[in-house]
Amino acid sequence: MDSIEKIKTHIEKNFSEKRKKHTYGVANTALELAKQYGCDEYKAELAALFHDLYRSIPVNVLNYHVKHLELDKKYIDNANLSHGKIAAIMIQRDFDISDEDIINAVSYHTTGRPNMSLLEKIIYIADAVEPNRNYPGVDELRRVVKEDLDKAIYMSLSRTIDYVSSEGNYLDKDTIHAKEYFEEIINKGE
Ligand code: FE
Ligand code: FE
Repeated sequence: MDSIEKIKTHIEKNFSEKRKKHTYGVANTALELAKQYGCDEYKAELAALFHDLYRSIPVNVLNYHVKHLELDKKYIDNANLSHGKIAAIMIQRDFDISDEDIINAVSYHTTGRPNMSLLEKIIYIADAVEPNRNYPGVDELRRVVKEDLDKAIYMSLSRTIDYVSSEGNYLDKDTIHAKEYFEEIINKGE
């Protein structure tokens, strides 16, 4: 079975309605952006379908995987940060994925990072703007993403940093460094 068929079968069997909607929303948005920005469309769709494979898994199960896979202790009791890291490993084991770019796009979809590839950027921002998302500023972000991918990512990273800080939650260093990286790119362009 083709990888896209395989993950779709898994999604249909295991995902909640809400998670399905979100995942297909990310896949469609990622496909559109891949067409617009000249990214591999197959990889964009596949990475999108994989990105939240571990999103709705109970935290005790995620903690088990964090220990078993010897991931950093910062991922314990942090489903928000661990689900992408675990998925990035499991798609290699369970879905025979070996493409580094797809693996990284899944791994960094929550935090972003400096020097993101085009595919990583597309998955990161598709996750933030897919049609089922609803938060203050999302329409502005949808507009910007069609004109300037880097600027949209910078805006989304800034919003995430403000939000995570205001909630008093742990802010990953990759997110802070990513924001600095995109800030520099945007300033150079102006
Ligand atoms: Fe996610
Ligand atoms: Fe997501």
